[in-house]
Amino acid sequence: MAQFKCIRCGQTAPANDNYVCPCGGLYEVHHDFGDISLDHFDVKLSNIGSTWSSGVWRYKELINPELDPRHIVSRPEGNTNLYKRQKVSEYAGIDGIYMKHEGENPSGSFKDRGMTVGVSVAVERGNRKVACASTGNTSASMAAYAAQAGLEGIVFVPEGMIAYGKLAQALAYGSKVVQVKGNFDDAMGLIRNGAKRLGFYILNSINPWRVEGQKSIVFEMLQQRRWKSPDWIVVPAGNLGNTSAFGKALRELKQLGLIDRMPRIAAIQAEGANPFYKLWHSVDKKLEPMKPETIASAIKIGNPVSWEKALRSIRETDGVVEQVTDNQILDAKAIIDSSGVGCEPASAASLAGARKLRDMGVIAKDDQVVCVLTGNLLKDSETTINYHIKGVSARYSNKPVVVEANLDRIEAVLSQGNDPAPGQEVKNLGD
Ligand SMILES: *Cc1c(COP(=O)(O)O)cnc(C)c1O
Ligand SMILES: [Zn+2]
Repeated sequence: MAQFKCIRCGQTAPANDNYVCPCGGLYEVHHDFGDISLDHFDVKLSNIGSTWSSGVWRYKELINPELDPRHIVSRPEGNTNLYKRQKVSEYAGIDGIYMKHEGENPSGSFKDRGMTVGVSVAVERGNRKVACASTGNTSASMAAYAAQAGLEGIVFVPEGMIAYGKLAQALAYGSKVVQVKGNFDDAMGLIRNGAKRLGFYILNSINPWRVEGQKSIVFEMLQQRRWKSPDWIVVPAGNLGNTSAFGKALRELKQLGLIDRMPRIAAIQAEGANPFYKLWHSVDKKLEPMKPETIASAIKIGNPVSWEKALRSIRETDGVVEQVTDNQILDAKAIIDSSGVGCEPASAASLAGARKLRDMGVIAKDDQVVCVLTGNLLKDSETTINYHIKGVSARYSNKPVVVEANLDRIEAVLSQGNDPAPGQEVKNLGD
């Protein structure tokens, strides 16, 4: 039977809705795995259209073996592509660099992988109300799954700090949206303190089942690579749920003898929201919460809840933690976007980080590297538009031109090839 086990003191407890050990450490799911072979997952790939064709539930034996399949709430999720683009390889200076596009999940971010598991467990346990604090994508995902399961959804978002696409999703899917006057960390504090009193089941990544679902990013990526580990997995790091999940996934695969070599995890933070970066480079390895500031709203988090789990992931995989500036994030995004793949700002921290680690000589030119693109391009169109139209230090901006409705002028503009000032009318051309 799966149990909860404290990440800090090792105490076990029944897997219920207390996510925090009396000692203050977070719980994680501890499985007693039976015999599992990789063939099993390869066979399941042929179950097209069934629950087992979900890129999460295909790995049920590694995620939640005991869950009654009748409780599964699935879109289905996962089955996201692994892209290789010349332009991206050149930008990073790494030939074998791939992008696993988690923005291709049903609600447009990797959050669906943890959410399908969290909501299924909520249903199994008979919960009627589910809630989360969110920088946007968790709320979009939870709202979608709550609607599908017929549960009441409540989301706490920092007022004025979440991208419009995400807010639109939460509203459209019908969750109750509470805009908290504060940042994500304030909203998270309210959820943690208020769950019992307000009677809801928490679906943030302090819920260990969310982390179990997110392990499937690693499982699926490895299966796509015929179970051959890359040298690196590079992931944007905010609340550190993914960093935690990736390390746990690799640890379990290794323990089961299903892989013989672990990829190294590189967690990438934004410079203005870098408490985990600072922790990693400190002597005492304790988290100092900070006031976060970055254009990449999905990783604008100053007090990440899963830092202890994430620290273990970095240590066990011989990983690194790096930071990148907002300009580096936006330029990397422009490269990913103009390669035809596209992603939301926070996602591009992965490529920006890979390039920086390559420059530093940490990643080698011939290493195999998988960057995780965490969210879809359309989530935060405002940031994209601002980069291309107003971007002051935007190296790869693609400015639109305003032209009179006249073919001569349009022809003149198109043959000119260079970019006039942003949004400026092109005058005196062609006559
Ligand atoms: C949630 C999110 C992140 C941060 O992931 P963590 O697991 O909290 O570190 C990064 N990018 C996007 C697009 C997200 O939605
Ligand atoms: Zn404990």
